[in-house]
Amino acid sequence: MSDCLFCRIVNREIPSTPVYETDKVYAFLDIEPEAPVHVLIVPKQHISSHNALTEDNVDVMKDIHLAVNEIVKKLGISDSGYRLINNCGPDSGQTVFHLHYHLVGGKSLGTKIL
Ligand code: 5GP
Ligand code: ZN
Repeated sequence: MSDCLFCRIVNREIPSTPVYETDKVYAFLDIEPEAPVHVLIVPKQHISSHNALTEDNVDVMKDIHLAVNEIVKKLGISDSGYRLINNCGPDSGQTVFHLHYHLVGGKSLGTKIL
């Protein structure tokens, strides 16, 4: 997907600040952080959104969630806590159509989801 922003970031055609990487997953700092910790975690394979997960590509979700646990340990927020957010589709405000999780933390996020 040469026209996909996050594919281009994964392929290092667009610079980013890496946080964690495996053969299947890449995590990097959000360019407009909304919390002291704001990391984006993406599958290297192009999957347009959560709606596009299927039996054939869902295995990468295991890698993504294990990556989260490694990242929060690395950043020292595994005990203080964090929030994982996935935006899917227009009502969510999804702007980049390559599946990603926002990992936010580093401060108290309160008890409300929205
Ligand atoms: P969405 O709204 O699709 O869930 O989130 C997209 C996120 O990508 C936003 O938080 C936005 O700040 C981030 N973003 C957009 N363009 C870039 C970029 O070029 N580099 C990085 N690192 N993040 C980006
Ligand atoms: Zn993509």
